[in-house]
Amino acid sequence: MNKKLLIGMICVLALGGFSWFKAQSVADPSWAQATMGTECHITLAGSVPKRDLAALRKKIDTALADVNHCMSTWQADTEISKFNAFQSLEPFPISPAFAEVMQSALAFSAATDGAFDPTVKPLVDHWGFGPAADEESLAEIMEAVGWQKVRLENNTLIKDHPELELDLSAIAKGYGVDCVAEVIRASGHPDFIVEIGGEIVAGGTNPSAKLWRIGIESPEPGRAFGEEIFQTVEISNKAMATSGDYRNFRVRSDGTRYSHIIDPHTGKPAMSDVAAVTVIAARCMDADAVATSLCVMGSEKGFQWLENHPEFQALFILHSNDGNTFTSKATAGFPVSEKQNRIGK
Ligand code: ADP
Ligand code: MG
Repeated sequence: MNKKLLIGMICVLALGGFSWFKAQSVADPSWAQATMGTECHITLAGSVPKRDLAALRKKIDTALADVNHCMSTWQADTEISKFNAFQSLEPFPISPAFAEVMQSALAFSAATDGAFDPTVKPLVDHWGFGPAADEESLAEIMEAVGWQKVRLENNTLIKDHPELELDLSAIAKGYGVDCVAEVIRASGHPDFIVEIGGEIVAGGTNPSAKLWRIGIESPEPGRAFGEEIFQTVEISNKAMATSGDYRNFRVRSDGTRYSHIIDPHTGKPAMSDVAAVTVIAARCMDADAVATSLCVMGSEKGFQWLENHPEFQALFILHSNDGNTFTSKATAGFPVSEKQNRIGK
């Protein structure tokens, strides 16, 4: 065979092989799936073989279903709902995943002096944000509330009060994001972003080989998701979580608003100067718990707390005194990528 013809044939075969490989893989796959009453958004940077992607998605489905099965208070057959219905002071055996999240939840309760408290479930119901209606008075409800009234011992939970109930909504989404990130990394994909309801883990770099750039939305009630960006940040191999008073709230007859974040000390919705706070940490579960806690503490106490916990960076968006604008305040090292000066309500 003539040499030129041979080279030509090799080229054709190589090109054919390349096109075949391209057809069998997906560039920068990105998708959304329903979970935890919201959506999980995932993007992987790079080309992923279709078969690998299908296997990865199955593993992610399983991971999310496992988290839901442990920690959803909206379904009766989950571990947490069974524990909540168990009105006994005997030890209640729980799964290792549930125990891991409860251990963190109780550690954050202690570290935040009770600003974070996983026993707020009856209060969440009382104020109309939970799955059940609670007609008892606040004083009666408070008897069964308090993180020191539940103990974790050898993968069992023990109540000190038969009506104590748990709500892990302020930490479970972050935990879910960590679980999905772990599955993606273990499948050999270092460059990705996972988000569930605003809680995020960003691994490596984006499809343009740059840091992941994330918009923090302006905490104005009634805006669509991402409609108005307050600030953008750039992160890599970090977790980020946001809590605020602008998405999930109720309006009283006098027109004032109250949010779904409860101050466990008063039993009432938190009334701090924080409209929203975004926290960056190594783990999303931790960022999630701390963001909720800082909303309860308010910016002054929150900043003091952050000084003693340099493993967290935070950006506070605060209600200003005139009630019409926001101001912001960030810890040193918060990775702001672009400052936007104007922010009105
Ligand atoms: P989001 O669910 O919007 O991400 P958070 O992470 O701040 O917001 O979680 C708020 C939820 O956590 C509430 O809807 C409630 O179920 C629960 N919760 C409210 N207050 C507290 C608190 N002080 N400590 C722990 N959990 C809380
Ligand atoms: Mg939270």
